[in-house]
This record gives sequence, C-alpha cells and structure tokens, in this order.
Amino acid sequence: MSSHTIENYVKAIYLITTHQELTSNTGSRESPPAASTGMLAEALGVLPGSVTNMLKTLQASGLADYRPYEGVTLTQAGQALALRVLRRHRLIELFLCQTLSLTWDEVHEEAENMEHAVSDWLIDRIDNFLGMPATDPHGDPIPRPDGSIAATDYVPLTTLNVGACFRLVRVMDQSVEFLKYLTDQGLEIDSVSALVELAPSAGVLRIRRESRDVVLAYEAAGKLMVRREPV
Ligand SMILES: [Zn+2]
Repeated sequence: MSSHTIENYVKAIYLITTHQELTSNTGSRESPPAASTGMLAEALGVLPGSVTNMLKTLQASGLADYRPYEGVTLTQAGQALALRVLRRHRLIELFLCQTLSLTWDEVHEEAENMEHAVSDWLIDRIDNFLGMPATDPHGDPIPRPDGSIAATDYVPLTTLNVGACFRLVRVMDQSVEFLKYLTDQGLEIDSVSALVELAPSAGVLRIRRESRDVVLAYEAAGKLMVRREPV
C-alpha cells in the first residue's frame, strides 16, 4: 500500500470525524465521533469492501482504531499524520491563490495531487513566505508545524436566529459548483450578511447581503460556518 493511499485515508477519517463534531452541535462528548466505512467509501470514491481491508491495514500500522459496526477513529500517530497532510494541502491552496491568483474553486484538486509530492521543508518555506497564515482560502485552519491547530470559534449558519448578523469564516462544502455559486452571490470569506428568514420545515433560509437577498437550502447553509457580528 502506497504512502499516498495511507495519507488520503487518514486525512479522510480526520475530516469526517471533525466535520461531524463541528456540525452536530452536541457540545462536549466523551469520545470523538467515528467515521463509518460507508462515509469513507463515499469520501474516497471506492467500494466499502476495499475500505474495510484498508482499515485493517491502518489498524495494524498503529494509525487507526477500527471497530466493525462502530467505525474508525485515528490514534495519536494517525492524527499527527492527518494534520501534516492537511498542513501541506491548505498551505498549497493558499499559495496558489496568492501567487498565481487562482480562485478558491480552482485550488482543491491541484492541492490534492501536490500534497503528496512536496516536502515538509518546502512547505515550511511556503508558510514563511505567506507570513504564517492561520487559515486557507476556504477558511480551513492551517495546522502548525508542531501539529497544533486553532480551536474553532464559529457555528453553522443554521444555528443563528432571524435578525442576526454574521461574518462568513469557513465553508465546509468545497465542491466547485457550490463555491462558484457562493462567489456569484457575493458570499466570500469575511463577507458580512444578515439572516432574514429561517424556515427549517421548508428546508430553506434567506440571507441579505448589501440589500440583495440570497436563498439557501438548509443543508447547504449548515456547511457555512459563521461568527456573529454586532447588528
Ligand atoms: Zn481548503
């Protein structure tokens, strides 16, 4: 099994479990959520059977803790590797945006390939060049060289009340179409809007940005992480 594959698995497990934690709003819990084989198969675009085999290998190499029917969590070593890959991925994305003026919907696929090819030495140079940034073009936190990562101080848009003002700080769905849609609506990182209507039963909410209304599906809005702003 290639290191490329291992890196993609630990990264996917890390992203699934931390995203679950961020969007579930359950507060503190005793153990971190586990990633199911189904979720991993979907995230990696492979069959569930091959995920199960791979998880046994990760378990044997001390990177993951796999329990059939419960799912998989990362060990400390697995988490450290995932954070190192994410550090590379997110710094490459920001580097491409800042130096080549690529847009936030253009950088993910490029970074997916480059993250396995660049050395940690080069990444540290890029980090210095960019001024040790805290976040990437999607608002994702960039892990520090020691593997630490900033605590999240934002909530999903769907948890605000009508009338609240908010700043968009992170986008969890990074599909090209979704990011392009947000750009078209003027919804960029750091943009400020107000929540003007919330209709969970109809599955939609409406926000107002510079006197222009944008309707978002409830599910999509749950992927927008925001910080409250004074009204
Ligand atoms: Zn990103």
